[in-house]
Amino acid sequence: MKRWGRIKYPAWLRAVVAQFDRDFQYAIILSFGMLAAVTISGFALYRAATGFWVGAMVNALIVLAVSLIMIYTVRTGDTRRSGFMFAVFNVTAVVASSLVFDRTGILWGFLGLWINFLLTHRRNAVVLNLIMVSLLVPMTGLLESAVEILTYIITALLITAFGFIFSQRLATQQRLLEQMASLDPLTGAGNRRAMKEDLVQATALSGDQDQSATLILIDLDDFKQVNDRHGHDTGDQALIEFTKAVRSNIRAEDGFYRFGGEEFVIMLPNVENEIGKNIAGKLHESISGKVMSPAGAIRFSAGVAGLRPGENWEQWLGRADKAMYAAKQAGRNQVRYGN
Ligand code: GH3
Ligand code: MG
Ligand code: MG
Repeated sequence: MKRWGRIKYPAWLRAVVAQFDRDFQYAIILSFGMLAAVTISGFALYRAATGFWVGAMVNALIVLAVSLIMIYTVRTGDTRRSGFMFAVFNVTAVVASSLVFDRTGILWGFLGLWINFLLTHRRNAVVLNLIMVSLLVPMTGLLESAVEILTYIITALLITAFGFIFSQRLATQQRLLEQMASLDPLTGAGNRRAMKEDLVQATALSGDQDQSATLILIDLDDFKQVNDRHGHDTGDQALIEFTKAVRSNIRAEDGFYRFGGEEFVIMLPNVENEIGKNIAGKLHESISGKVMSPAGAIRFSAGVAGLRPGENWEQWLGRADKAMYAAKQAGRNQVRYGN
């Protein structure tokens, strides 16, 4: 157990708080669930106190269902399923409230129409919202005139349309942010962060499922001269050209990252050491000295290391780095293999 301030919190609670911090959907489900449960408990007590037992029961059932959804979310971490369940339940609760509480139910409906877009995929939300509206409109005792019916339908559709657009924008922003967080802006190769994530995953897979993987660490030869002779912009252009050449020579499932200035890493998943050596040799043969940049041909030295069972990603990368250094020592423009 870790201490926060003076109080000891159990591990499960710390795990919930950690996921709450990093997972948008999880945070929405739990905060909306908590707020709804607390607020509706108040309504249940008020209705019990005034002797409206059916109302109190309906409210109590809603609180129970919301609590069960929250428990499911915490236990499984499956926010896709629990968010959808929550949205379906929302519609059910609004329809049930409208049957029992008449016109006040429809007011809750506006909250439901909006929150559905935060809980589940926008396509689900649109379908659920349309179901909600088509169940509420024909209900007797809810909407009292043609103007009210029309106004309700239009406002409900506007909320749904705006919810859809909002959710679509949010998804686009999210994608952009994820790209920015994992790609190198100059070359479009993966960045160090993405590399670390993938290497850690590969070492885990090697432990759990005996899967192999091979690393190739590349350092461009005499790159300082490129900058010195042709300027930094030409150097940048050469890095872009080099990236393109590598991309077109590796498989889609291979990881390609810019590790530092003119250093790159290729990770070949499911490729064992001997085959990895072969691939690295061929890659060197087809790219080194063949890619033309504004500064002339680009050559590189590379170190190869197959993943060993039980080693961590730093040890693995360290062996590839050592092999690359040996290639430099041996006169550059060649591949060396780690052991
Ligand atoms: P070696 O063959 O030993 O690797 O020689 P080198 O000149 O490539 O070695 P070193 O690692 O000392 O120099 C790397 C140079 O790469 C330094 C810097 O001028 C250049 N460089 C690093 N990042 C960038 C970048 O983003 N753009 C440009 N244009 N140049 C960069
Ligand atoms: Mg270097
Ligand atoms: Mg270099």
